[in-house]
Amino acid sequence: MNGWMTTLLVIAQWLVALFVLALLIGAVAIVVMYVIDKRQTRHTIRRNFPVIGRFRYLFEHLGEFFRQYFYAMDREEMPFNRAQRSWVYRAAKNADRTLAFGSTRDLTKNGTIIFANSAYPHQEEDKTQPEPVTIGADCAQPYSPTSYFHISGMSYGALSPVAVTALSKGAKLAGCWMNTGEGGLSPYHLKGECDIVFQIGTAKYGVRTASGELHEEKLRDIAGNKHVKMFEIKLSQGAKPGKGGILPGIKVNAEIAEIRGIPEGQDSISPNRHPEIRNNDELLDFIARVRTITGKPTGIKFVMGEPNWIDELVATIKKRGEASAPDFITLDSADGGTGSAPQPLMDYVGLKLSESLPMLVDKLAAAGLKERIRIVASGKMITPADVAWALAIGADFVVSARGFMFSLGCIQAMQCNKNTCPTGITTHDKSLQRGLDPADKSVRVANYHKYLEYGVNIIAHSCGVSDPRQLNRRHARVVTHTGDSISLAERYPPAN
Ligand code: SF4
Repeated sequence: MNGWMTTLLVIAQWLVALFVLALLIGAVAIVVMYVIDKRQTRHTIRRNFPVIGRFRYLFEHLGEFFRQYFYAMDREEMPFNRAQRSWVYRAAKNADRTLAFGSTRDLTKNGTIIFANSAYPHQEEDKTQPEPVTIGADCAQPYSPTSYFHISGMSYGALSPVAVTALSKGAKLAGCWMNTGEGGLSPYHLKGECDIVFQIGTAKYGVRTASGELHEEKLRDIAGNKHVKMFEIKLSQGAKPGKGGILPGIKVNAEIAEIRGIPEGQDSISPNRHPEIRNNDELLDFIARVRTITGKPTGIKFVMGEPNWIDELVATIKKRGEASAPDFITLDSADGGTGSAPQPLMDYVGLKLSESLPMLVDKLAAAGLKERIRIVASGKMITPADVAWALAIGADFVVSARGFMFSLGCIQAMQCNKNTCPTGITTHDKSLQRGLDPADKSVRVANYHKYLEYGVNIIAHSCGVSDPRQLNRRHARVVTHTGDSISLAERYPPAN
C-alpha cells in the first residue's frame, strides 16, 4: 500500500472514531436529559415527554421568526405588518415606493380608513410649504417647528449610543425635533445639533435631586442649551399607563448614572406618578414652575383613560386662566410601544388613539383651547396615511418612535428588553452596535422623514388641499361593520 492510501485510511479511522464518540456523547446527553426531565417537577410537558418536550421551547422561540419571514401574509403581522415595514424600509433607502397591480389592503374591514379624493386635486405646482405652527406663543422663547412629523421619546440607555447619534444627526438633516425620552439628555442626543424636546419623567432623570425632586438649577442649565426647545412632563405612556419602573443597577454604568443623576450600580425606581402632582391644580402648578424656570414651551404627555378627566382639567384651566394651560399635549395611544412593559398594562389599559384623539380635539375645541394647546399625536403612526389621518382628526403634530427605529434598520425582532438586539439599536453589546453606522443611518432617518411628509402631501393634494394641516374630517372616511364607509365628520361630529 502506498503512502497516501495509508494516510487516507488513518483519516477514515479517525473520522469513524470521532463519529462513534459523538454518538456516544449524544446518547449520554439524551439519557442525562431524560433523567433530569423525569425528575423535575416544574415543567409538565418535559416531565410527561422527556427530551422531546424540550423542542417545544425551541419551536416557540423560532416560531416568531418563521412567522415573520415565511408564513405571515403582508398585512397580518403585529404590531407592524410587512407592508407597513417595507414601506418604511424603502423610504429610508430612497428606493422605489410604487407598487404594481393593485392594493392588497382589505378595504372592507371595520375601522379601515379611506381618504376622499377631490374631483379637483390640488396641483403639484401650486404646492405650498405648510405654515409653521407656534407652540407656547406667550412663552419667553416660543417654538415654531416647520415640520409636522417628529421623533418620539426614546431614552439613551434604552437605545444604544450609535442609535441615538444616528437619530440626532438624521433629525438635523430632516429638520424635525427629537424627544429625549425620560432618560435625560445625553451627549449623543446633542451630536447632530437637532432640535430637542426634553422629557421629564416621574423619576426626573437628568433634572433630579438625590431624593428624586425637581432640581431647579439642573433644569435651568438644560434650558440654557440652545438646542433644547421644549419640555414635556410625562404623566403616563401608551404601553404602560400607571406604571413606573425599575432601572436595574446592572444597567446603571458610570455614564448613565451621570446623565440621569443617580448612584452608579444601584437600582433606580421610577414612581408611577410625579410625587408632587396629585391633582389638576398641582399639575398646572408644576407646568407653571417648569415654564417659569425654562422660559420655554412646557407640555404634558399621557395616554387617555377616563375621558371625564379631560373635562375636569379643562375646567381647572378655565378657572385659573388660559395662560395656566399646558402649551401642548402629547396624546399617546394605548397601543404605543416601549422597550419593556407588563402585558396586562400593554394589552388592557388605556384608550387607543383612534378613540381618544377625536375626543381630546373636540373637548379642547369646545372649550376654545384648541389654538392655545397644541396637540401632538403619538402611537403606531409610521406611514403617510396614518399621519394624514391624525392631521385630519385635528392633531397639530405627529410623533413616531418605531417608524424611526425601522428607518435605522429595526427588523421587529422584539428583543428590545434583552441585550441582544440584532441591529444594534437597543443593545449595549459593542459587537452588535458595530453594525450600525450613524453616518449612513442618519441619511436613512432623514429620507424616511422626507418621504413620509411627501406621502402626506400626496394624500392632501388628492383631497384637494395644499397644506396637510388643511385636511379635516370630511376628507377621510372610516369603514363600518357593514363594509361601507362613512365620513369621519359623521363618525366624530364636533362637540359644539
Ligand atoms: S431589531 Fe428587535 S430588538 Fe432591535 S430594536 Fe428592533 S424590535 Fe427591538
